[in-house]
Amino acid sequence: MAKSVMNSAQYNGKQPEPEIIPVIEETIFSKIIRKELPSSMLYQDELVTAFRDINPLRPTHVLIVPNRHITTVDDITAEDEAAMGRMFTVARKIARDEGINEDGYRLIINCGEHGRQEVPHIHMHMLGGVDVGPMLSRKG
Ligand code: 5GP
Repeated sequence: MAKSVMNSAQYNGKQPEPEIIPVIEETIFSKIIRKELPSSMLYQDELVTAFRDINPLRPTHVLIVPNRHITTVDDITAEDEAAMGRMFTVARKIARDEGINEDGYRLIINCGEHGRQEVPHIHMHMLGGVDVGPMLSRKG
């Protein structure tokens, strides 16, 4: 997403030059990643961060996110492949740390409006510690 903004020449009354500056719209997750907001952080490296969901839906509910702000799965580019792969290897590590790897768990990534994604920064939910239940109801 890009927004048009005035540059300094426009403020000085000079001939305006069209300028498009991309605006990265951060979410609360970026502040958690930078440790500007508190969280129960379990893991962080140069590509991804994992922290406990503030409103856990199962005994283990961890969010694994890329450090770079990527809005949805639809916004992933080839440059993001390392971070996307790291999300899975970190999921495996956290499952072992949490002691849920043998019983199993569910990984969910919601995307966009129909996917009911609430926070527009890609995140993988890890849910476990109990049989998490059927994947989806059969309606619609
Ligand atoms: P989504 O519906 O976008 O897939 O999931 C967003 C998740 O982020 C929800 O499970 C919600 O509880 C979690 N969440 C929202 N705000 C915060 C926060 O400030 N801290 C933490 N740790 N989790 C959050």
